[in-house]
Amino acid sequence: MILVEEAERILKQIPVRIHTEEAAVSDALGRILAQDVVSPIYMPPFDKSAMDGYAFISDDDSKRFKIIEIVPAGVIPKKKITKGNCAKIMTGGMMPEGADKVIIKEVTEEKEGYMRIIGKDYNINLCRMGEDVKPGDVVLKKGTLIRPPEVGILASMGLSRFKAFRRPVVGIVVTGSELVDPGSPLKEGQIYDSNSYSLSAQAQQMGLEIHNAGIVSDNINRIQRVFEKLWQPCDVVIFSGGVSEGDYDFVPGILKNTGFELHFDKVAVKPGKPTVFATRKHDVVFGAPGNPVSTIVIFEIFIKPFLYRMMGHEFKPVYKQGILKNDLSRKRANRSAFVPVLYKGGEVKPLPYHGSAHIFALNKADGFVCIPKGIKKMLAGSTVNVRSIQ
Ligand code: AMP
Ligand code: MG
Repeated sequence: MILVEEAERILKQIPVRIHTEEAAVSDALGRILAQDVVSPIYMPPFDKSAMDGYAFISDDDSKRFKIIEIVPAGVIPKKKITKGNCAKIMTGGMMPEGADKVIIKEVTEEKEGYMRIIGKDYNINLCRMGEDVKPGDVVLKKGTLIRPPEVGILASMGLSRFKAFRRPVVGIVVTGSELVDPGSPLKEGQIYDSNSYSLSAQAQQMGLEIHNAGIVSDNINRIQRVFEKLWQPCDVVIFSGGVSEGDYDFVPGILKNTGFELHFDKVAVKPGKPTVFATRKHDVVFGAPGNPVSTIVIFEIFIKPFLYRMMGHEFKPVYKQGILKNDLSRKRANRSAFVPVLYKGGEVKPLPYHGSAHIFALNKADGFVCIPKGIKKMLAGSTVNVRSIQ
């Protein structure tokens, strides 16, 4: 059995093959940039008005200003502003030559082609050409995960395509003769397969393409057949169940039969001790134990960061710091334990939790607190970090 930190070290050191490809900005969400993105343009591309109002010379103390032009957005002003004159301008309109301020409409009065100032406006209300970005500025760094704002940033520089890292294709196999697909009746001794759904959802959240092989009964030949077929489309296969010591836990044996090197098969983590990680050249396999909380936790802490590594991105979990509301204690401290908690207003409340089969406990959970190996009790009032479920 290895420590969580040791497993993380192994996962960080295994060489991964990273490919790049062209991607469309319209399909950029969740992708990872494979290049620094340099702006080809000034942003804004011209001095523009930030408000609807009148462009004039700020130290012009004329009583009234003749409106010599109307400047809607998208139109180039033709006239130069001199003292005693102004241009009516809309938000986004190009500043006319000579003017250095826009006074907002709300503090003015317009009558018979003239504008009068009837209130105070201390802002200049204009956005200067290039004040956000200049040509050649590195706007986004290689390795950046593209969220909705980054999609907008790419588009605002006029880019329609960019270089992204290729996303690994993930196969999912849930093993277990007791498993039934939701939607079918449950017979005695059976349980519904939730893992192929939760694992798919976790991978989908990362924007990955998934090949879900569904439920495979605990039959070594059947599992191996399904497994071998998945290498056609997939870069990574995730097993759920069948990874432990039971008579029907065939996954580690299949990996050995098919030429995989097992890098670890037991980690000092609760839930998820019999977690398997194996590779064969560039093929990658994770095996997570079948209890639903185990699969979810193992995906979060080991599989997700690795998949992101394959996409050229360093995944950093989100932690929130808070004060533990109740004691967290346990009888044995031989593993690091992830326990589901509520996080509210800086307060961290452990949830009623019956163990790794109790997926219902995660419904309210904001995240997990990790009780480190060797620690039996964390006292109420102590400061803890909550690892968010994303
Ligand atoms: P295993 O890792 O195969 O020993 O399974 C551990 C526990 O998780 C058993 O109680 C299984 O019935 C349960 N389990 C296995 N696979 C799934 C699944 N896909 N969905 C829900 N529970 C599962
Ligand atoms: Mg099983």
